[in-house]
Amino acid sequence: MRLSQLFTRTLKENPKDETSLNAQILMRAGFIDKIGAGIYTFLPLGLRVHNNICRVIREEIDAIGGQEILMPALTPKEYWQITGRWENFDALFRLKGGDNRDYALGATHEEIVTPTVQRHVFSYKDLSTAVYQIQTKFRNELRSKAGLLRGREFSMKDLYSFHTDQKTLDAYYEIAQKAYFKIYERLGLLDITFLTYASGGAFSKYSHEFQTVCDAGEDTIHICDKCKVAVNQEIIEEQSACPLCGNVELRAEKAIEVGNIFKLGTRFSEPFGFNYLDESGTEKPVIMGCYGMGPSRIMGTIVEISHDDGGLIWPEEVAPFKVHLVSLRQNEATDLLYDRLQKAKIEVIYDDRDLGAGEKLVSADLMGCPYRVVVSAKTLAEGSVEIKKRTSQEVELVKLGELINYWTK
Ligand code: ATP
Ligand code: MG
Repeated sequence: MRLSQLFTRTLKENPKDETSLNAQILMRAGFIDKIGAGIYTFLPLGLRVHNNICRVIREEIDAIGGQEILMPALTPKEYWQITGRWENFDALFRLKGGDNRDYALGATHEEIVTPTVQRHVFSYKDLSTAVYQIQTKFRNELRSKAGLLRGREFSMKDLYSFHTDQKTLDAYYEIAQKAYFKIYERLGLLDITFLTYASGGAFSKYSHEFQTVCDAGEDTIHICDKCKVAVNQEIIEEQSACPLCGNVELRAEKAIEVGNIFKLGTRFSEPFGFNYLDESGTEKPVIMGCYGMGPSRIMGTIVEISHDDGGLIWPEEVAPFKVHLVSLRQNEATDLLYDRLQKAKIEVIYDDRDLGAGEKLVSADLMGCPYRVVVSAKTLAEGSVEIKKRTSQEVELVKLGELINYWTK
């Protein structure tokens, strides 16, 4: 993509009408646009980042047998009444249709996925199975002051698994946990993301959250440094020691909940009457698990933990482009490099604008792509270009003929 063609502009300073750091930087860099409290537009660069996060999540959830579907965001009241959540789900956005019926904007999808899968699954032979979606969710959050960390409209990956018994649920739950850590590893969050014990439901003692340590977080977790797990503040009274080793010297940290997994048991299959026939032909309730993760919140989290005064610093897997190619009044030579990079399938944003070096280098830092390549008369005279990593101060000179090899070898 050529920067001269991009319709969005960067700002010189953080926008004043935004209080959260992640949204301020993303708005300054032209990645998102604010529409209202907790309501944002993803602009071209921001959408590329969000899509990359979703791609990583898709690959890892597909790898554990999740089948992708897309459920409606508009959901009739009757489904929520079956589970009692029309009244009990505080953050539900409720609205009236022209048919005078009531609807909710999907805040989560147990009420929709359960009857959907029920229409297709009848016997033990059809189980286990797991379906997921990546979709926009709506919640009437009271406070939406944390930018992408707490949207009123936000993205969620929600996976639901269906089993004949507790044992197969437990096994899948372990598999999902591992997949979650693979995702956080690829997104550059592994070292600061802790499996966190939180209160469970009727079906299990604990549920598990994945909490990323960050001062902008709204949660407090208590970390066991020996086991690399944590306990959520909300259960610390009943569980004041590490649930794995009994260590009582836990370290309190602010953290962001970037995912959570939950053994639902029969909480939803029972009200919907979702039973299966076992091997002896007896009807039994299906046992369920649910696994949530927030791509847009993860995007905000990455910004909170990975930026400097110059702007964004994206990990490679999520960066909008791998290379930020800067022409310092050398567009003829740089056009050729741009073509070569594209032919080699290296994702590149090309600053071909008629601006001075200072402004272009500031833009490159602000947008935060992992590699900056500068083409100037000085280095071209020796047949080379400058490469700098966003995370480093060092500049390398690379010969024109070696440029593609820099990434592909
Ligand atoms: P929180 O306690 O932070 O409100 P939650 O327990 O309500 O989160 P879930 O209902 O389990 O979260 O949603 C699954 C995932 O969706 C969360 O782990 C989080 O990553 C994301 N998520 C939840 N609410 C929001 C929101 N308002 N904005 C952005 N992401 C969200
Ligand atoms: Mg919530």
